[in-house]
Amino acid sequence: MLIVNVLHLNYDNDMSTSDVSAIIKKAGMKVTPGRRAVLNLFSTDCKPINAEFICKKLKNQKINQVTIYRTLFSFEQAGILSRIDLRKGSVHYELHTSHHHHLICSHCGIIERFAVCEIKKHSKKILKDSSLFKSINHHSLELFGLCRACAEVTNTAHE
Ligand SMILES: [Zn+2]
Ligand SMILES: [Zn+2]
Ligand SMILES: [Zn+2]
Repeated sequence: MLIVNVLHLNYDNDMSTSDVSAIIKKAGMKVTPGRRAVLNLFSTDCKPINAEFICKKLKNQKINQVTIYRTLFSFEQAGILSRIDLRKGSVHYELHTSHHHHLICSHCGIIERFAVCEIKKHSKKILKDSSLFKSINHHSLELFGLCRACAEVTNTAHE
């Protein structure tokens, strides 16, 4: 499985300060302390975080909540962040790297990424069958289930 990393980041590492500025610049945005602080909280592997988490983390810095929400919105518009619905009642974001989807354990919340995507292949047919839609621009797909560890625990609990 080929994973093309569009931002040329190392998946296993947290971002260095220079990476953060480079990503913001590359998206055509001005590098500000607020933007840097927000982006700095994202790691390059799948660790989606929400606005509340970011607000809590940046509580001691002079960045207000409105700025944080606005920054997240503009990062998403610029393609720096992707929005993920983890069914946790709030919007989560992760760094937009290569196209991928998630397996999510509905018991412990562990997330695994997978790059297999069949959706694009089927979009033509989906559009042909649709009476309302002319185009599909993007999609997200999250699969929910039980990880091996949780499946074992639930099994034992039922015995
Ligand atoms: Zn992910
Ligand atoms: Zn689990
Ligand atoms: Zn896909």
